Amino acid sequence: MFSFLNSFRPLDFILGLFSQDVGIDLGTANTLVSVRDRGIIINEPSWVAIRKRTREPLAVGAEAKEMVGRTPADIIAIRPLRDGVISEFEITEAMLNYFINKVHEQLLTPFPRPRVVVGIPAGVTEVEERAVRDAAIAAGAREAYLIEEPVAAAIGAGLPIMESRGSMIVDIGGGTTEVAIFSMGGVVVRRSVRVAGDEMDEDIVAYARNKYNLMIGERMAERAKIAAGSAFPLPEERTITLRGRNLINGLPQSVEISSIELREAMAPSINVIVDTVKDAIDETPPELVADLMEAGICLAGGGGKIRGLEDRIEDSVKIRVWVADDPMTCVARGAGKVLEDFDYWSRVLATDDRSRRLK
Ligand code: ADP
Ligand code: MG
Repeated sequence: MFSFLNSFRPLDFILGLFSQDVGIDLGTANTLVSVRDRGIIINEPSWVAIRKRTREPLAVGAEAKEMVGRTPADIIAIRPLRDGVISEFEITEAMLNYFINKVHEQLLTPFPRPRVVVGIPAGVTEVEERAVRDAAIAAGAREAYLIEEPVAAAIGAGLPIMESRGSMIVDIGGGTTEVAIFSMGGVVVRRSVRVAGDEMDEDIVAYARNKYNLMIGERMAERAKIAAGSAFPLPEERTITLRGRNLINGLPQSVEISSIELREAMAPSINVIVDTVKDAIDETPPELVADLMEAGICLAGGGGKIRGLEDRIEDSVKIRVWVADDPMTCVARGAGKVLEDFDYWSRVLATDDRSRRLK
């Protein structure tokens, strides 16, 4: 009773009645914000443009990404979470601040002091965890809870993680791939690697350079990946034009590249992802493997949309693989579901066990 009184802050309680609770997918590539009863209201790249000299943030999100490659030398655009590590605490804070304020501008909430649930990569350290929580509080959150991205993704994808029968998510983002196998609300096996969509783009850049002496930018590589990339032979292979600069004579050059070549280019990162899934299954108790054979493996994240990835994984682990509905919004929708039924989820997930970690 005493501790209840201690933790009861009347002012926060009253402010809470007026502010919207906010779920945030702080992704390495994209940040999504969902608000109770309204769904996802923000979906922007996790980019911040800063003045190089002072490191003062100038623009965030879509506006910052637009500036890439078009700004004066003094302004650079960065992705503070690029590798799933919070390398730039102040910039991450500025980004969270911007998104939380934007929610309140859009919804015209009188007192922007929301309860916030933030999805973070499962591989982050405790120091990084504290950094995100502090950033959310500094950005105006009344309470900030962290949830591991694969847990939020699984909830968003509708996997029955509270049941005793096992379920499995593979969330492939820009910077990290997170694999988790659940039973009774806990993570039984988890794997996190810093190989995902960005690395595939880098693979394509390297391939074009090595094979064609063609220097292309990462955004060109990403466009090629989305338009014609694949992880398994396609029923109808495609071609796409890469535009860049010839490394020998320095002149602009375009090269037609086939989806077969792109597959070869992306193979190093795809192989790491497939091996990570395999390792996780190798570690899983046999009863749960039997459950997975029935339930299948669910893919989420932007990388889950790569053509033929289901077939590629299925072929190597012999378990059915399916892509979640709207895979890029699973984490944000999962964080939103946690807020909708906060008492339930905080009861079942709140524990010091690192595996659940809503705290
Ligand atoms: P994060 O959670 O790390 O922010 P996302 O889940 O938003 O990442 O996914 C971003 C990644 O997904 C990027 O590497 C992007 O290129 C890739 N991606 C997005 N759409 C597609 C697509 N249709 N096919 C292949 N890759 C895609
Ligand atoms: Mg993500």
